[in-house]
Amino acid sequence: MEPRSTPADLRIDHAEWLLTLDRARRIVRDGAVAVGGGRIVAVGKTAEVAAAHPAARVIDGSGKVVTPGLIDSHIHTTFQLSRGLADEVGSKRFLFERMYPYEGALDEDDARASIELAVLELLRNGVTSFIDAGNYQPHLTAEVVGGAGMRGVVARSTFDVTRSALGVLPPAFIESTAEALEHAEAVVRKLDGAYQGRVRAWFQFRGLNNSTDRLIVDLKALADRYGVGLQTHACFARDTREASLAQHGVAEIERLERLGVLGPNVLLVHAGWATDHELEQLRQHDVKVVAAPSSSLHNAYGNIVQGHVPELLEAGVAVGIGSDHASSGIVDLCQEMFLAACAYKEARENPEVMPPERVLEMATVNGARCMLADGDVGALEPGKQADLVLFDTARPEWQPLYNPVANLVYSATGKSVDTVIVGGKLLVQGGRALTLDEDAIIERARRRAPEILRKTGLAGRVAPRWPVA
Ligand SMILES: [Zn+2]
Repeated sequence: MEPRSTPADLRIDHAEWLLTLDRARRIVRDGAVAVGGGRIVAVGKTAEVAAAHPAARVIDGSGKVVTPGLIDSHIHTTFQLSRGLADEVGSKRFLFERMYPYEGALDEDDARASIELAVLELLRNGVTSFIDAGNYQPHLTAEVVGGAGMRGVVARSTFDVTRSALGVLPPAFIESTAEALEHAEAVVRKLDGAYQGRVRAWFQFRGLNNSTDRLIVDLKALADRYGVGLQTHACFARDTREASLAQHGVAEIERLERLGVLGPNVLLVHAGWATDHELEQLRQHDVKVVAAPSSSLHNAYGNIVQGHVPELLEAGVAVGIGSDHASSGIVDLCQEMFLAACAYKEARENPEVMPPERVLEMATVNGARCMLADGDVGALEPGKQADLVLFDTARPEWQPLYNPVANLVYSATGKSVDTVIVGGKLLVQGGRALTLDEDAIIERARRRAPEILRKTGLAGRVAPRWPVA
């Protein structure tokens, strides 16, 4: 008997390797994905999927490794024009002498130029969803993400303690607890669910040492009321840990535990300096965690040497992966995966920790859990959003190709991304973005950067150290 055929809008046929990241972690040779109404309707062998799902449009996946769209669980989109502003500085100077002055100097045009560049770079490198770390222009992040056709979580940054043991915040960030709560809630009310649900809006406090107990507790209550996430940076360096001990007499995650705010909708970024007790709290409360290897390595935060990502993953904690910001150089999840896989091997003197399969899970299924969207994205399964990436294996770094997961994590970079599809729509083809004007974005970034540099007063910090003729 002929199987009943259900028409699809789009099909990707003949994928050389299809990494489904489904529950069984199936890998399909000569694989196909059929898409209807923006969602996946079938995944399997090309012959079977093609027979059952005739499609108006077919993309040839031969010579490609097809994966779920990558999920960057922590990126500061407004920091994209900060490359080169914070090299060779530790956490305290990174924040108070470089990044806060940079961020405080951004006007709307600067912020938009930075966000556009971030979104372009993420998309070109195969990221289909990301969690913005929170900024003062979440409406612009939403607008750019929405217009580009991607998915993103946005948040309004909040602080309500001007002076901490780490330093003093710039005047532009200073607001009362009530104002911070009011502004954050307005953003969630306005932006959560925008752009056909592709944009979500969450609550955020930027870091524990610049947040009162009241701000943290009230933000958590709001996150619960609106059914959204709450994110913060936590214990990412020796400095932040020591500041918490000095100001509150307890370490950062322990403080959150005492405040009763740990829970499954809480996302903690870095958490490298957590104690054993704190790690156990993360597990018990199903807290989500993000590792950001490049920023820790670039600014020597110690999250690899002190961190416990392999153990958290072993314990079933949802640990995603994030590129954090351009100030540490790369915004490429493939390169982040390499660092996550290899830096722990080096730190532990153990080549068996962090195999590539586990690291790819961080960038897909775990990222989906971090986004509180694991029913929707992160794997190629019927019913999920049709978010896919096609990596071009006709490149030197993919030869020879025995295990596509190993090549993807150990050899590839975002440069081998050929095609990106979000919700069944083609956003990148042949390595070029279709929904963003690449030339105009680069031109705007080049034009705004010198002006931002002038406003930050950091010009003397970025010149080459060698003589320039
Ligand atoms: Zn961050």
